[in-house]
This record gives sequence, C-alpha cells and structure tokens, in this order.
Amino acid sequence: MLDIAANRTRGHESLLGDLRRLARHTTALDEDGSFPTQDIARLAAIGALTAPFGGGEVAGIAIGAPDELMEVLRLIGHGGLPLGRLYEGHVNAAALIIRYGTREQIRRARRRAAEGALFGVWNTEGADGVRLVREAGALRLAGTKTFASGAGHVACPLITARDADGAWQMVLPQLDDAARADLSDWRAHGMRASATGSFRFSGLAVAPEDLLGGPGDYHRPPHFSAGAWRFCAVQLGGIERLVDEAKDFLQANGRHEDPHQLARMGETLIAAETARLWVRRAAHLAEAAGVADTPEAAERAVAYVNLARSAVERCGLETLERVQRSVGLAGFLRTHPLERLCRDLATYLRQPAPDRALCAGAAHAFRDEAAGDLWR
Ligand SMILES: Cc1cc2nc3c(=O)[nH]c(=O)nc-3n(C[C@H](O)[C@H](O)[C@H](O)COP(=O)(O)OP(=O)(O)OC[C@H]3O[C@@H](n4cnc5c(N)ncnc54)[C@H](O)[C@@H]3O)c2cc1C
Repeated sequence: MLDIAANRTRGHESLLGDLRRLARHTTALDEDGSFPTQDIARLAAIGALTAPFGGGEVAGIAIGAPDELMEVLRLIGHGGLPLGRLYEGHVNAAALIIRYGTREQIRRARRRAAEGALFGVWNTEGADGVRLVREAGALRLAGTKTFASGAGHVACPLITARDADGAWQMVLPQLDDAARADLSDWRAHGMRASATGSFRFSGLAVAPEDLLGGPGDYHRPPHFSAGAWRFCAVQLGGIERLVDEAKDFLQANGRHEDPHQLARMGETLIAAETARLWVRRAAHLAEAAGVADTPEAAERAVAYVNLARSAVERCGLETLERVQRSVGLAGFLRTHPLERLCRDLATYLRQPAPDRALCAGAAHAFRDEAAGDLWR
C-alpha cells in the first residue's frame, strides 16, 4: 500500500531542497521590461508551478499548510523579490481556483500549470476598469487592468470584472495572440523584472466555464484580507536577504567586530525575526481550519493579518535603514547587489491601503478582552 503521508513529506523536502538551490541562483534582473523567464522555467522544472494546485509528480504544497507554504514563499523571496512576487501571484490564483473552482476548472488549471503556464491575480485597475458585457447573448470583456505582474508573460491570469449589476466576478479568461500587455508605464524604482504593466482585455469572449465562483466571492472575508500574509512571507525573504548581504559585507571588510556595527546588526536581527514571528502567526491564523466558519474567527484572523502587514512593513523599513547605514555608500553603487535589493524591497513594501489595514487591525482591540487574550 502506498504510504501517502511519507511520500508527501519526502516530496515536500526534496521540493524545498530544489527551491533552496534555485533561490541561490536566481537571476539578478534589473532592467525595464525584463522578466525572469529562466527562473520561471526552473520553477516549472522542479514542479513548483503544479505544487500549489496539489497535483503532479511532486507532492503538493498544501495551500492550507502554513509552515510549508511560508517557507516556500520566503525562500523564493530571498532569492529575488520580483520572482517571489510572480510566484506569490501564481499561488494566490491557485488558492482561489481550488476554493471556488469546479472540478473541471481545477483540473484544467492543474493541467495548464503542468504545461509550464504561470498564473497571476490581476485586480488593480484605473478609470477604464474591466467589465463583463453581454453582446448578442454572449459575454465579452471590456477594459484594462493596471499594475498586473507578469503582463505579457502570465498565460493564465485570474481577473476581477464588474458584472451588469456592478458586482465583482472572477474570470479565468482564455487569452488570444493579440498584443494586449503594455509595460511602458512600469519605469519603477525597484521590482523592474516583475513586468508589472497594464493589460487590455477588451473584446475577449468569456464562456460560462471561464467564470470562477459567484459575484462577490473574490472579496469574501476572511480569505481576501487574510491572504495578505503570503506577500508578507515574500517580503520577509527580501528582509532576510538584506541582512545576509550586510553580514557578508561587514565580514569581508573586517568591520563585523566593531561595537557600533554589532549593535546595529543586533537591531537588524530583531527586526528580521520580528517580521518572521508575525508572518508565521499570521499564516497559522489565516489558514486555520474553521477560520471562515464564524464571523468572530474570521474577524480575529483578518485583524491579525492586517497588523502583521504593518509590522512587516515597519521591520522592512527598519532593516533598509540599518543595512544602508552599516554598509554605507558602497551599498548605493550599482555594482553592489544591495543597491538593487534595497530598491526591490522598498518598492514591494508598497501594498494597498496600509493606513486602512492598520486601523482595521486596531479596531479589534476594542472587544471585551484583555490585549493579551485577543489572539489566544
Ligand atoms: C511589484 C508590485 C506588483 C504588483 N502586482 C500586482 C498584481 O499582479 N495584481 C494586482 O492586482 N495588483 C498588483 N500590484 C498593485 C497592488 O496590489 C496595489 O494596488 C499597490 O501596491 C498599491 O500601492 P499604493 O502605494 O499605490 O497604495 P495606496 O492604497 O494608494 O496607498 C498609498 C497611500 O495612500 C493611502 N490611501 C489609500 N487609500 C486612500 C484613500 N481612499 N484616501 C486617502 N488615503 C488613502 C494609503 O494608506 C497609503 O498611505 C502590485 C504592486 C507592486 C508594488
């Protein structure tokens, strides 16, 4: 009889080993319009694209197994934040498809991932947002998504579109060969290789089997807000990478025993470890069984993840400042890896509505519970 649990653990361990090796050799891309094509192909080759869909040769990364998924996201983020962002988008799409998809949609998505297709979730939009319009009895898309990571490279985007009633509907559009991606606006401080451009959907036909879940499912609590722990896990990898680069620099230059440098390194380690503790607890609360069963459980998890976002952002900003002060001007030269890594982290720390997230988390304090009991 097959020992599924043992096989799964072995599979996961070997996937982690492959990811560690891959993360050490992530391509250091930094040009406008660049994209980590080779790294995505290497992720596909080790089964990391199928893993979040729970199938394929490699044992799946269980979306609901927070420690496993956190480690994967952290490792890839440590290798490179643009690759980490792209893989996080792939994982987010897998989570939504597994949660809301029909058996056929899950099967189709798994097959596409096994063929090497990268997924992504594109929700952000400007004035010309994406709508579902009915023409001669058939559904079509109209409008454009902005800040879409992997635009022109993601083969299977999961997008949100307004339906005729103004509700948000998830769609898995079948892309055609038209040139719909536009990266000309992505002239960014950092994260250049994430190809975060705009994508025009106008004219694409939508079949009934391309609609994922029902109206409103995308933003349904707690998963929409609580899922933010995954970008925090990638950011954590970026934070720890800065610490590693600073350590290497100080040691190579014989500055690691200086008391001021040691004190700053101590503070930097505290920031990095604080981020890790927040992300880990956020992951556990967000992925806990029964988190969506009661409004109380959902609200508790969402509040924690909202605070974790702020905590990780603060730890990231502190790490940036301390690492830059420890290394000095050398870290601002384009020949030094820290120059790009700092820009990537500073850019990726910008996430939607941080003030609202902090205040929503803070509101959870005003319950009839002592502060120390709020998440116990
Ligand atoms: C590298 C990268 C890749 C991305 N990839 C994707 C992707 O693939 N798909 C996707 O959908 N999105 C993507 N995004 C976009 C992301 O989801 C957010 O839309 C974006 O990061 C928001 O950043 P912002 O600083 O403009 O946020 P904002 O929310 O505009 O925040 C900026 C500031 O304004 C404040 N603020 C926000 N709302 C208000 C308000 N109403 N009134 C007053 N103040 C306000 C905030 O608290 C903050 O201080 C990506 C972003 C990055 C950085």
